[in-house]
Amino acid sequence: MTLKLYNTRSRSLEAFIPIAAPKVTMYNCGPTVYNYVHVGNLRAYVFADVLRRVLTANGYEVAQVINITDVGHLVSDQDEGDDKIEIGARREGKTAEEIIALYSDAFYGDLARLNILPALSYPRATHYINEQKTMIEALAKKGYTYLTSDGIYFDTSRFPEYANFAHLDVAGMKAGLRVDMGEKMNPTDFALWKFSSDGNKKREQEWDSPLSIARKGFPGWHIECSAIVKALLGDTIDIHTGGIDHIPVHHTNEIAQSFCANNAPLARFWLHSAFMNVDGEKMSKSLGNTYRLGDLYERGIPPLAFRYWLLTAHYRTQVNFTWEALAGAQTAYNRLTNFMVENQAEGGVVLPRYVEEFHAAIDDDLNTASAVALIWTLLKDTAVSPREKRATILEFDKVLGLGLLYVVERKHVPVPDEVQSLIEARRLAREAKDWTEADRLRDMLAEQGFDIKDTPTGQEITPLGLH
Ligand code: AMP
Ligand code: ZN
Repeated sequence: MTLKLYNTRSRSLEAFIPIAAPKVTMYNCGPTVYNYVHVGNLRAYVFADVLRRVLTANGYEVAQVINITDVGHLVSDQDEGDDKIEIGARREGKTAEEIIALYSDAFYGDLARLNILPALSYPRATHYINEQKTMIEALAKKGYTYLTSDGIYFDTSRFPEYANFAHLDVAGMKAGLRVDMGEKMNPTDFALWKFSSDGNKKREQEWDSPLSIARKGFPGWHIECSAIVKALLGDTIDIHTGGIDHIPVHHTNEIAQSFCANNAPLARFWLHSAFMNVDGEKMSKSLGNTYRLGDLYERGIPPLAFRYWLLTAHYRTQVNFTWEALAGAQTAYNRLTNFMVENQAEGGVVLPRYVEEFHAAIDDDLNTASAVALIWTLLKDTAVSPREKRATILEFDKVLGLGLLYVVERKHVPVPDEVQSLIEARRLAREAKDWTEADRLRDMLAEQGFDIKDTPTGQEITPLGLH
């Protein structure tokens, strides 16, 4: 059985063969850290984590990089409006650096709660400014760029394959153009670098511009991914992922600039996860219909039950966020963890026929829905002993990442003394209405591997990710 993945580039299932097995290089476009990520964003990273685990289960060694967008992502994907990080800083009266630290730490916390394995690194765009400038200069040298009064732009008409990846109708875009293109030569052209405006709204994050242009500026949103991939993983990587919204603009632009700079394709496999909707609309900050992982927890849905819910759908199908659906997933997840806690006898054998069926499902473009259903088939199988069920489910869990072993190990752990004193300190902080201190103590508890929840009867402490 070979691993098959749906490649957006060919719009078809392809057998996955890496460039240099057993090594696999994978890049996942990361979040813009101007606010907390919502559970829709987190779908993209649970998907990337399952993909990584499936690759590992297939014997590959995965080098995974997730970037942190901390500059250059403007309010509109058409290179207009303010920088989201600068807006965040103004909104909260903090420095850009504080905003970036706050929201990237919160993001890492969510990843840990979801039992997402740590990536090789989480490079920040602002730590790769030189690499981005070097790439822009290489593009300029080859004649792919032009200068406007507000930045350095990529001339998409110089890259004839530009429209191929997303099947864009460029002629139609030109004909139906209603927005003012400004100084752009083609509607699809995009900023590689933007100049800081001379107005009084001074930017916090700005650098000397490439090409010795005597103005300050900052990189456009797309160039960071191309430059970071090149710096950390090489010119051509095996797999690049993101949400489907990245196909027509962000990934199309990454592909164009990397190919023109490196003379090599950026990635061989492009995988995209579908949206999470709320009442038929995309969950997004601009629509104001977002929920955070912590909101779910407050409503009694622990992070790993949310992960379970995500896995019951294929990553390429849209999911609709409802509390009923999550409650259903939580009931199922509880039944599963209860089985594991009640059946702790070790030494069972992993059943080959179940493992084969499991791999047939996940190797078929990550069919986690079938893989999860197989757990229930196994649990109902009267011919299999509980001990073998346990061993086989733990084998599945290496890929599903539902933290089942961890659940068994941690469900009854005593709370250590230092954790007990943090809990007491937090109780006092809450009594004194010092919410900042209470939040800080909550983070410290999370670092110790515990979640704390405020209930009418006081604080409730549980191991991270568990109810
Ligand atoms: P952003 O911070 O906007 O760059 O988004 C981070 C990731 O979340 C990207 O891969 C997006 O495609 C993805 N994403 C954003 N909104 C949703 C949603 N409602 N459902 C699923 N994925 C989303
Ligand atoms: Zn990207």
